[in-house]
Amino acid sequence: MGKGFFEVPTAINEPVKGYAPGSPERAEVLKQYEEFYNQQIDIPMFIGGKEVRTANKRPLSPPHDHQHQVGEYSLATEELVDKAISNALESRSKWASMRWEQRAAIFLKAAELIAGPYRAKINAATMIAQSKTIHQAEIDAACELIDFLRFNVEYMSQIYAEQPDSAEGIWNRVEYRPLEGFVYAITPFNFTAIAGNLPASAAMMGNVVLWKPSDSQIYSAKVIVDVFKAAGLPDGVINVVYGDPVMVTDKALGHADFSGLHFTGSTDIFKKLWKQIGNNIDVYKTYPRIVGETGGKDFILAHPSAPAQQVATAISRGAFEFQGQKCSAASRVYLPASKADEILASVKADIESFNPPGSPADMSNFITAVIHEGSFDKLASYIDGAKSDSNAEIVAGGNYDKSKGYFIEPTVIKTTDPHYVTMETELFGPVVTVYVYQDEDWSSVLKLVDTTSIYALTGAVLSQDRYAIEEATTALENSAGNFYINDKPTGAVVGQQPFGGARASGTNDKAGSAQNLLRWVSPRLIKETFVTPEDYRYPFLGK
Ligand code: NAD
Repeated sequence: MGKGFFEVPTAINEPVKGYAPGSPERAEVLKQYEEFYNQQIDIPMFIGGKEVRTANKRPLSPPHDHQHQVGEYSLATEELVDKAISNALESRSKWASMRWEQRAAIFLKAAELIAGPYRAKINAATMIAQSKTIHQAEIDAACELIDFLRFNVEYMSQIYAEQPDSAEGIWNRVEYRPLEGFVYAITPFNFTAIAGNLPASAAMMGNVVLWKPSDSQIYSAKVIVDVFKAAGLPDGVINVVYGDPVMVTDKALGHADFSGLHFTGSTDIFKKLWKQIGNNIDVYKTYPRIVGETGGKDFILAHPSAPAQQVATAISRGAFEFQGQKCSAASRVYLPASKADEILASVKADIESFNPPGSPADMSNFITAVIHEGSFDKLASYIDGAKSDSNAEIVAGGNYDKSKGYFIEPTVIKTTDPHYVTMETELFGPVVTVYVYQDEDWSSVLKLVDTTSIYALTGAVLSQDRYAIEEATTALENSAGNFYINDKPTGAVVGQQPFGGARASGTNDKAGSAQNLLRWVSPRLIKETFVTPEDYRYPFLGK
């Protein structure tokens, strides 16, 4: 602590801008998009605060226009990963001992830079890199990242204020030390906010970080790096490398000073990393913290009492926004027989009202491209499977085309088998599968929902019947880490709905909460005794 018990500014959620026709923010982001889209950028890695480029490069292309190149990025060598780790460790002692209010100021400044001068840049970069519509970019890259930074500063100050009681004659204090070593952050493509938050939350608590972004998010990761630099983050605190994830990971997890993994991505990769850490346990100086938020097979369950139009809207928004590539996106739906036809007709009408999938630069598009060819091909094969399988049918959408962009039409599969492959497998695209149950089977459907998937990330129940809501809330206690009543299962807001799931969906350390930040500190208890005893004899020993 410095020379005052400082209070941080009260965190508030960043208001979401509308981007309506004629608005200044719309003109600004479109101008920035055009500029980025028509330039060629050579994106460097950032090691010890320096821009590092190599001869080994990969092109960058928007998923909605894959033949158009917007630049390239460099791939790391083993030596550069070693250098990034040693730069992090060299920066550690200065960063770890910096007063917390200085660290707070850097990240609060980063939040304000994104809210102001970098807003159009980070949104346009996210539209290009990840094919987000402006609304999806705004709620992610601008607002959610700003919220992570502001709220985490507030939670950090609350953690530091949390102190033990002291009995008479002694003073107990706890200091929240950063981990002894470096934190390795591996981030997914789908949220620019997560990409920024995973390295930043650990760094905010005084840690030094090696960050490996997803190959499909590098264009917007570059803007995050620019923001951190502009906010005054000292060199070497966050070191960014791109390239072969296995090579980078082998280097990081094989290092004696590896002290924590902050991962978001798919379940299989996380399980592999956990095993690798276990196998290397004798190498490490400390037991590494392992935080991973992973896959999902998120459900919408409609009770017979739920209004059809509300269920249909929860599906159309919850399953298809950002092409279903939110970890929270609804991908399995359970509808009562008495309402299924009405609900599905309404979802079909919604889908038919969307423009065909296209570029986010055309702001009338609700659906754009999926992230890459691998994802496109996987989704197309599941759609083809549903077309030929006798226990499944396509009731809406079902078309796809990758000639210009990786475009998959929002698709609804209806199955008679509650364990049909697309009811259980995470597809990560705009494909939702529906199972229709008999109204009187409501209670057994709850069991089905609970036991169908290995995941437990998000889920939504829609009902007008309070007994049914109570029954579902109890029966599905372990089926979702984020449970929604009469809403869609997506759209968690930092500071309001801390996010994370259990079972195969992750360690549930709730991104954007004090619980997450606590994983990046190792408390030291200091007990000070004011009048120190000088005789070992306790009173009971008296004659
Ligand atoms: P992904 O698992 O393909 O990649 C995530 C990161 O892991 C990337 O940086 C990638 O380069 C890296 N990676 C890939 N192979 C690796 C390896 N062998 N060793 C180490 N790192 C490796 O995931 P993605 O496609 O970027 O993101 C989608 C996945 O993320 C989905 O499963 C989704 O559910 C999940 N997700 C979960 C949450 C959550 O909060 N639970 C949030 C966002 C995304």
